[in-house]
Amino acid sequence: MPTLPAIAPDLLARLQKRTPLLWLNPALGSALPEGSPCFADIDEADARLVRCAGLMAHLFPELQSSAGLIESPLTRVERLQQTMENATESDAAWFIKSDHALPIAGSVKARGGFHEVLALAEKLALEHNVLAPESDRRELAGDAARELFAQYTVSVGSTGNLGLSIGVMAAALGFQSVVHMSTDAKAWKKDRLRKAGVQVVEHAGDYAEAVAAGRAQSLADPKGYFVDDENSLMLFLGYAVAARRLATQLAALNRPVDATHPLFVYIPCGVGGAPGGITFGLKALFFEHVHCFFAEPVASPCMLVQLAADETAPVSVYDIGLDNRTEADGLAVGQASHLVSPLMRSQLSGAFTVADAQLYVHLHRVAQTEGVLLEPSAAAGFDGPRWLTHSDQGEAYLRQHGLERHMASATHIVWTTGGSLVPREEHEQFQARGQVLAAQDELA
Ligand SMILES: *Cc1c(COP(=O)(O)O)cnc(C)c1O
Repeated sequence: MPTLPAIAPDLLARLQKRTPLLWLNPALGSALPEGSPCFADIDEADARLVRCAGLMAHLFPELQSSAGLIESPLTRVERLQQTMENATESDAAWFIKSDHALPIAGSVKARGGFHEVLALAEKLALEHNVLAPESDRRELAGDAARELFAQYTVSVGSTGNLGLSIGVMAAALGFQSVVHMSTDAKAWKKDRLRKAGVQVVEHAGDYAEAVAAGRAQSLADPKGYFVDDENSLMLFLGYAVAARRLATQLAALNRPVDATHPLFVYIPCGVGGAPGGITFGLKALFFEHVHCFFAEPVASPCMLVQLAADETAPVSVYDIGLDNRTEADGLAVGQASHLVSPLMRSQLSGAFTVADAQLYVHLHRVAQTEGVLLEPSAAAGFDGPRWLTHSDQGEAYLRQHGLERHMASATHIVWTTGGSLVPREEHEQFQARGQVLAAQDELA
């Protein structure tokens, strides 16, 4: 018998039974590990995206209206809030951060993925003197750069959305582009990639196996570059830039974030790169005034088990007998990123788990009240406000941080991470399923 990770027995039992729960991180506020990324690293990523904006607008005409920046709206969701909480307590404000609508890649992966490919393109072009440090990044779309990039292969292992982001960006710059996917990845994602000129390689097994296979193939190729979702600083920093953009949006909406105006952010978590980067960026701006919670499927709570086990050795959901099978394909990850989990140990307020059925209930409610269409993974965060305000653990958290009397001036942001590229027929199926489950939910 393998030994079980050192998780408290009652928590372990509830995780194994797949009971949705809120876990609070006891190490919140501890020091970051030595050698952690810093503010200047986020600055650099931010500056890269700004100087590459002209290039992006040139490569993707749909970015002309945003002058080449990849950004999503922060949207108040009053009707959704009213249907999900008692009207008496609705002084707080709910928003969605609409990354489901990020251009080109249709998911939060546009943030990290585009940043990493742009960083690679700049680096290669500078090394081979087809770009000068100060010159316009649109030169990366010129003949000399394309000829250079065509010699290199950019590859990635992905359940889908990261592949869409990396694959499309790499192909647009003229790289050879390969996406390794598990066979259960959605057919439309594979089709879309192939149409964009990306080679799709299918692997039996789960996400981690697709990543491992891709990594091994890429390492064997001297002109191969592997985007390592389990360990990529460039992805992480691209995600972290989101926090600054969000801060600007909050300021424009007159939503302060300080000791009397707490900010709660709920983000779906797969391997942890996207929610971890966003959390890291937010903590750098708002310190203890921002409270970040991850949402994970009951079958795949990889960040929760890694942090709850409080071990540096990797812990996976398989180790506690879970099967990592969920319809939230963007979150079907058995083991958290070992780059991100040590950072989240200091910064994450907690994590909650969500049953698959609940994802459909949420995505149906969001469509009904706000007209927003999400994929299942992207609906994982909507239980967040209720966990904080209507559970023993949530109330304990608020008490512990002296927040109870400030909840009327709180801002809750649910990060909606994907959905706008999902074909209409798939959305219809999601909605039909959500309608049935929501009706059952209301009867219960
Ligand atoms: C990838 C993804 C996430 C989570 O990002 P990680 O970096 O894997 O934690 C959340 N939602 C959607 C839709 C995704 O594609």
